[in-house]
Amino acid sequence: MARLDRQGTPQGGGVIRRRLLLRGFVQGVGFRPHVHNLACSLGLSGFVRNTGQGLEIEVQGPAAAVAGFSRALRDEGPEPATVLACEEEDIAPAEERGFVILASRQDGAAAMVMVPPDLAVCPACLAEMRDPGNRRYRHPFINCTACGPRYTILASLPYDRAATSMAAFTMCSACRREYEDPADRRFHAQPNCCPECGPGLVLTDPDGRPRAEGEEAVSLCVERLIRGGIVAVKGVGGFHLAASARDRRAVARLRQRKQRPAKPFALMARDLETVATVAVISAAARQALVSPRAPIVLLPRLAADAPCPEVAPGLAHLGVMLPYTPLHHLLFADNLDLLVMTSGNRSGEPIVTANHEAMEKLAGIADLFLFHDRDILTGCDDSVEIELGGALVPVRRSRGHVPRPVRLAASGPPVLGVGGNKKNTVCLLRGDLAFFSHHLGDLENAAVMDAFAAGVGRLEKLLGTRPGIVACDLHPDYLSSRWAAESGRKIVRVPHHHAHFAACLAENRVTGPAVGIVLDGAGLGPDGSIWGGEILAGTLAASERCGSLAPLRLAGGDTAVREPWRTAAAFVHQSGCAGMMPEAVSAAGDTETVRMALEARINAPMTTSCGRLFDAVSAMCGLCLFSSFDGEAPARLMAAADPGEDGAYPVKLEDDHGFVRIDTPGLVRAVAADLAAGAGPGRVSARFHRGLGRGLARAAAQVCRRQNTNTVALSGGVFVNPLLFAVIKAELAAAGFAVLHHRRVPPGDGGIALGQAVAARAARP
Ligand code: ZN
Ligand code: ZN
Ligand code: FE
Repeated sequence: MARLDRQGTPQGGGVIRRRLLLRGFVQGVGFRPHVHNLACSLGLSGFVRNTGQGLEIEVQGPAAAVAGFSRALRDEGPEPATVLACEEEDIAPAEERGFVILASRQDGAAAMVMVPPDLAVCPACLAEMRDPGNRRYRHPFINCTACGPRYTILASLPYDRAATSMAAFTMCSACRREYEDPADRRFHAQPNCCPECGPGLVLTDPDGRPRAEGEEAVSLCVERLIRGGIVAVKGVGGFHLAASARDRRAVARLRQRKQRPAKPFALMARDLETVATVAVISAAARQALVSPRAPIVLLPRLAADAPCPEVAPGLAHLGVMLPYTPLHHLLFADNLDLLVMTSGNRSGEPIVTANHEAMEKLAGIADLFLFHDRDILTGCDDSVEIELGGALVPVRRSRGHVPRPVRLAASGPPVLGVGGNKKNTVCLLRGDLAFFSHHLGDLENAAVMDAFAAGVGRLEKLLGTRPGIVACDLHPDYLSSRWAAESGRKIVRVPHHHAHFAACLAENRVTGPAVGIVLDGAGLGPDGSIWGGEILAGTLAASERCGSLAPLRLAGGDTAVREPWRTAAAFVHQSGCAGMMPEAVSAAGDTETVRMALEARINAPMTTSCGRLFDAVSAMCGLCLFSSFDGEAPARLMAAADPGEDGAYPVKLEDDHGFVRIDTPGLVRAVAADLAAGAGPGRVSARFHRGLGRGLARAAAQVCRRQNTNTVALSGGVFVNPLLFAVIKAELAAAGFAVLHHRRVPPGDGGIALGQAVAARAARP
């Protein structure tokens, strides 16, 4: 909104008239009532209306008041709104009195109008819901222009009730009056409804037999949860499986029925005070928790058994969110303040959204089903965020974020990035904005590929753009790459780690040259080997590999990912310290067979993967020998780190004709020796994190000096590790480097679709 500044305040105290055009997320978020109130409070006349371009405002009055209006609009828009652009011009004053909200003007190209994300229930609606005198007392679907479902109930644009799944409900006269009154906070709130005219609840048995409706359905559900039951609850973006998080037996039963032995469960807490009973909440985390996007925030756990060990066995963080729909608020009671709220899906499949589908797919898991009859048109998982360097960074960017775009430094032709094969999202560039899809999942089966194709179609439809260029991963066997190849459009293959690097540059609006530290589990490098611990140098368009972790062989290819003990055995053998094979590793499996497979080069690919190095050290410490979910071994290793330990293993850098190789075998030997000398996992983990972090930072610094750049970008899934992130960032910052890291885009594979797309755009001749 820089143009506001440049135009400044006109001189003189006469009456002026100013026309403003706001673009971005300015519709469906309560902007018109906000503008109305602001203009009236300043004694200005004029009007506001929605147009196909955004929000059009004309205000008239004393110059100082008009300037004050411009300023206030810039500084204090309604919370869920995002103004992406504002044009402003002074025009001739007109004869008029008062300020009015005019009917919307539909004028062709809906170029910059955007659907807002789903917004958590606002304080005003909550207060009404808790007021016994209000006609929406305990109404599970209360909403207004500032809150409620948006993206997930929308079928097409423009965002009007007829285009949402609320079209099935006809507003009663009381609701319609609110909807049509420009001064009402439900003016054109598309999902507006009340107990008379809105959706309803029904609680059923697993065989579909109704137990209760409405208020009684809620109370029976709460009662069952208190008694340790598991209830499938339909929310905004899909079903959750709910159970009391303080009931160890209930949580264990849910684990057993979901066949999910160790992967952490997300929690939903009644309020912030409840969150504080299980985790540490920083100011930044608190802000995220109570924000309208209401994500799951990964918070430092107060104790290993908070609230019970079973919710996240052996982990240092708990994923916690606050209730974000009115119905969620009704699920809590005096003796029920903390729930497990895990996605209702079959392992590896998308979140369940339809009632009949829930009945079928969650059979055998849920004791009861709490349904409602407002359809979910797009399944959308909860977003996950973690605090890194004082800011909240999305680990999974989905409900509450999408379809809010990320602003880029420059415009260009439309491009679709289709992402990788894990934690997939797709990303569409239009103009200088990058729009991500919701989280689509691991592309491993037909159900997820259906969701993937639907996600692409939905994004293209909402944005009215079908890009002719599709950017995909270099790996030809990723299902996203195959989809791209079969799309009939021009495809650009982008190396995995370059995509991570480019995503980080792009969201920081930097084009390079820069150096990148890219750390993840695995991605195909241009040389055909598996990369994952890389120092790159280049620009948005392309980068060169200037350093890496020293390559080591894995034992067992894909099995290695599920069995970290194999990687530990393989790395110990190759590091020349087999005599110090940690006991935990020898006890987990036959290390001699691993050695023979390595020597025979059977299923023993070379890798520079940073994720596998974490796996190996985690297994050497006996923390995780077999992994039941992605990232388990690294998460346990980080959780074990002793905060009081400030040592670091020395890490050598080898110069191979200008290529910097980080001596991983030396690091493995240091770990083995320390363990052999009796060090515990707490000490080993802390020293490993600090040693590796410093080694990587020094390697990047060397490459920077050679490349004559001062900027280092940090990307890759390993960077959701706050400990390693902090070490690397501090080392580089202390040495005077400018450090770029992710803030709006996931550091992991959920963010690479952006990097693919911007790289394809930048690489155009
Ligand atoms: Zn509200
Ligand atoms: Zn009504
Ligand atoms: Fe990756």
